Formats: sequence, C-alpha cells, structure tokens
Amino acid sequence: MSKPATKPVQQSVAMHYPWQQDQWQQLALQIEQQRLPHALLLTGSKYIGKYQFALSLAQRLLCHAPVGGYSCGQCKSCHLVMSGGHPDNFKIEPEEEGKAIKIDLIRQLGEFVAKTSQQGGWKVIIISPAESMNINASNALLKSLEEPGPNTLLILVCNEPSRLSATIRSRCRMVKFPVPSISKVRPWLAQVAGQNEEIEQLLHYSNGCPLLALQLLETDLLERRRKFVGLIDDLSEHRISALTVAEACQENDSPMMVDWLYSHLALMIKSGKKGVSKRLVFRYMDTLMQAKRQMQSTANPNIQLLWEELLLNWQQLFKR
Ligand SMILES: [Zn+2]
Repeated sequence: MSKPATKPVQQSVAMHYPWQQDQWQQLALQIEQQRLPHALLLTGSKYIGKYQFALSLAQRLLCHAPVGGYSCGQCKSCHLVMSGGHPDNFKIEPEEEGKAIKIDLIRQLGEFVAKTSQQGGWKVIIISPAESMNINASNALLKSLEEPGPNTLLILVCNEPSRLSATIRSRCRMVKFPVPSISKVRPWLAQVAGQNEEIEQLLHYSNGCPLLALQLLETDLLERRRKFVGLIDDLSEHRISALTVAEACQENDSPMMVDWLYSHLALMIKSGKKGVSKRLVFRYMDTLMQAKRQMQSTANPNIQLLWEELLLNWQQLFKR
C-alpha cells in the first residue's frame, strides 16, 4: 500500500478546497458588501471538507490584512487560527467522536458571545457536527442565535440537517455543499496522492467524497475493503459459505462494513447486475440499515449472529 507521495505543505492559510469555489465566492462577496448573516449552516455529506471551509472563513474574517478576498496567512491572527489558539475563534466539538455536544459547551459559547472580541474584530464560532448537540444544548444555542451581537458569526457544520431542530435551521442561512464532480476531485487527489494507480479505485470506493478517498489512501482501509468485497463476490457466486464470511467480518468495524456492503450492492445495481430482483434488493437495503443500528446499539448485540443472518440473506439475493 503506497502512501501519498506529496503531503500538503504546512502553511498558515486555511484554504477551502477547489470544489468549494462557488460557495467561497458567494460568501466573499457578502463579506465585502458587509451583508454576511450572523449564522451559517454548512450542509452536505461527511468527508467533503465543510469543516475546512468553516476554518478558512473564520481565518478570512479574523485576518488583519486579507489579500484579494483571502486571508494573508502571515499575520499573527492567521497563525493563531491555524494553531487553534485564536481567542476570538471558539470551536465546539463533541469530546469524543460520535458523542453528543452537551449544554456546558453551549453555555461557554453564550459567555463568549457576550464578551467583546479580544482583538477588536470579528468573533467566529464553529460548531461541528452541529447535529451532535443534544436537546438541551440545542435549546441553549437558540438564545445565542437570537442575540449574537455585532461582528459575530456562528458557523454550524452539519452532515445531517434533518437532525437539527426546525427552529435552529430557520435561524441560519444554509450553504449547501453537494458531492463534487469526479472531474473536480480527480486532479486534486492526483496532486495530494502523487501518481498512484489506485486513484480510480479510491474514487469509486469513496462515492466521490474526496476526504474519504484520502483517508482510504492513508490507512489500510482500501486493502481491507478490497478483501471484504472479494469475500462478498465469492459468496454471491456460492464459492464460500456465509458462516466463513461472517467469521472474517468479526475482525473489522462492523457498522463500517455494513456501509461497504450497502454501497457494493448499490454499485452492482447501478452497473446493471442481471437476475437480481430490485424489490428484494430494496428490502435487503432496509435490513442492512436495521442491522447497522442494532450493531451500534448499547444493548450488547450478538454481532456474529447479525452477520450470519445478513450474509445468508445476501446469498439468497443471488440464488442460482
Ligand atoms: Zn492574516
């Protein structure tokens, strides 16, 4: 497994990604015309760089000497944003990935919003992922959204806006980030990954989400996924038993592998696999999502058994 040949150079400019140019220009214009709203909701799939976009926007607003609509990357403020120590840039995340953002943090945000900025300019808050706020945190945030004060920008980074309360959504201006076109991602990935014969496969496995493609490249996930797909194809062709595959599935993160199975099936259907009933496929996709929820539940599920059921049902889809 080859590692990226060229790593991005350490710099103090938080640049947005090439596929975010339209959103950037739109906001840059609003900054210039001084009509930036007080709260933005950045929405779109995970792994397409919304957080990086939020950071570059924060840096642009806090920079002491922006050049041509971008942060300078040289001033003290730019350096502080990049090092994570800017006193006027408040970032809120769950303590652990996948956990909730609790009310204590939103209370701190309230205090931050009430104070004047330390460097005399903007105050920028980034909440990511915003859908992780529990109900109390979410209610507490509403107050800050109502009275943010001048030169204060709240940026909510959100993968699943439907999980945010309607009131919060209605108080933010939404900026949408669609999954970028392959033509935009390919040159970027080639630049970051160096000449790499795996690029097409990375794009294929990441469903066009560029940062996921990068993560696959930097870890052994691509290799693991390839092995898994190999087993699944053997299973479809009845060359191997569901029990053997179920045992092999124990070694990995099960919910992630359910996603792999889901997207493998989606790709098979897209590529026009013959002789498979669409009705059964859709029902199976529902079963997959249910199994994933069970695997993630705290009720100590029997993972081996769940996999056996899933894989036996998988084999049924490809009955000879
Ligand atoms: Zn600067």
